[in-house]
Amino acid sequence: MYRVNAARGEFALINRHFNRGPARRAWLGVGDDCALLPAGGDEALAVSTDMLVAGRHFFEDADPVALGHKALAVNLSDLAAMGARPLAFTLGLALPEVDDPWLASLCQGMFALADRYDCELVGGDTTRGPLNLCVTVFGNVPRAQALRRDAARAGDDIWVSGALGAAAFAVSRRQSGAALADDHPAQDRLDRPQPRVELGLALRGVARAAIDLSDGLAGDLAHIMDRSGVGARLRWSEVPVAAALNELPLRERMQLALAGGDDYELLFTAAFEQRAKLQTVAQELGLALTRIGQIVTVPGLVIEDDGGVALPWSGHGFDHFA
Ligand code: ADP
Ligand code: MG
Repeated sequence: MYRVNAARGEFALINRHFNRGPARRAWLGVGDDCALLPAGGDEALAVSTDMLVAGRHFFEDADPVALGHKALAVNLSDLAAMGARPLAFTLGLALPEVDDPWLASLCQGMFALADRYDCELVGGDTTRGPLNLCVTVFGNVPRAQALRRDAARAGDDIWVSGALGAAAFAVSRRQSGAALADDHPAQDRLDRPQPRVELGLALRGVARAAIDLSDGLAGDLAHIMDRSGVGARLRWSEVPVAAALNELPLRERMQLALAGGDDYELLFTAAFEQRAKLQTVAQELGLALTRIGQIVTVPGLVIEDDGGVALPWSGHGFDHFA
């Protein structure tokens, strides 16, 4: 059994220094994909910040069009995970030098995605420094329909959108000196993740808890488990693994699909009664939604084979400070 350990690096650091207890003004503070602030009546303003650091989140030679797309996409993904509709964003940018053609390409990728979701750039900051892009997004969602990490209940089905592991596969290939071609589907997933904004909106009033998969299924599911005070059982055979991983040995496939980051799919829980509705949502969006397990009362994550036997997998999601 993979015991969820709330003391793991990144999250422990945030809790130690930046979590100052229950939010006073916000409806939801540190610890979810977005904070929720009262925005008049029952409407909440959803806010989230995600930073992309050169050499850490992307390779220094990354295509600027893709980088512009990704900087906004990973933030829109947090709005999606909350069921929030994108409104606006700000951009903090540190640049080693002014390279106008590079910046034009960055903007091309960023604004194409911004326009697709009618999300407006409303401010930011620009300075000289090591390449770093920091986006803050704002969205709105009715307070009662926000998809929070703390809302999962024992008995809920666990669902995931799309297929997992492709982006992590592209990273591992690049790190082993056998980088994939730019147009390989797995490389495309890494460079141009698609935030599941439409899915997040469709899940309002349908799903209970949700999170976006930025750090790997096991680690991100652990955040729902921690916040909701529940455990989970996953059936490995049901986990939708990206086709690019088909030829890999089982261990490596499990590692990439369960603990690889950067998928930006949505992981969510929903009551049994929502199964038919969710099949309809999947058809309408043309996006696979797969039931991969169940929320249980016993803490911890168990990954089972088809016969219900626990698999000896002990990986975890990506953690910058592990
Ligand atoms: P996500 O992967 O959804 O972007 P993170 O794992 O980065 O979320 O962050 C977890 C939680 O901690 C979020 O609620 C985030 O807003 C909060 N957080 C992260 N860093 C800080 C910080 N420096 N100060 C305050 N809150 C932070
Ligand atoms: Mg998130």
